[in-house]
Amino acid sequence: MLITHDTECALSILVELLNTAPEACGTEQLPDVPALSAFVVRQEISEIDSLTPADVTAVQAVRGRLREVFSADSTDRAAELVNAVVAAAGTTPRLTNHDHHGWHIHYFAPHAAIGDHLAAELGMALAFIVMAGERERLRRCEAPDCARVFVDLSRNRSRRYCDSRTCGNRLHVAAYRARQRSAEAVTTG
Ligand SMILES: [Zn+2]
Ligand SMILES: [Zn+2]
Repeated sequence: MLITHDTECALSILVELLNTAPEACGTEQLPDVPALSAFVVRQEISEIDSLTPADVTAVQAVRGRLREVFSADSTDRAAELVNAVVAAAGTTPRLTNHDHHGWHIHYFAPHAAIGDHLAAELGMALAFIVMAGERERLRRCEAPDCARVFVDLSRNRSRRYCDSRTCGNRLHVAAYRARQRSAEAVTTG
């Protein structure tokens, strides 16, 4: 797969961001400036100066647009959505080696507001996935009561659940209980 380490890092932030949405987890995980600040720290997002309530609204809007790419029904549609997100953000690709990271490219304009920053970086990560012909790796969890998304980076593209320790296990347990019940029904019936 022609995905660089930097793109993988951006995709991991993308998944974390999308799964903060009420559609994904039932409640808004980025409701205010403190929650957004905590997200910035946790995800080590660089060059964010200060945050305002307008940034919270902008991030929520960008999040919704990025999520649409996961449910696009064709690659043409996914490309159109990605282009729109990135174009609206305004990008200025530049090389940087800040904070002892090796040389890598930042796509966001210097000191861009966080909404534009995320739209440029995460939109470009999605652009690379589409370009590599790997759009099918953008998945929604298959657990019936889960709407979280994930990027399947497994070699054989076999991942089905957002987090195998929660959704995967939960389903295994449910399937086991169902088998037990039908076995009991056979022996007692
Ligand atoms: Zn960087
Ligand atoms: Zn799940």
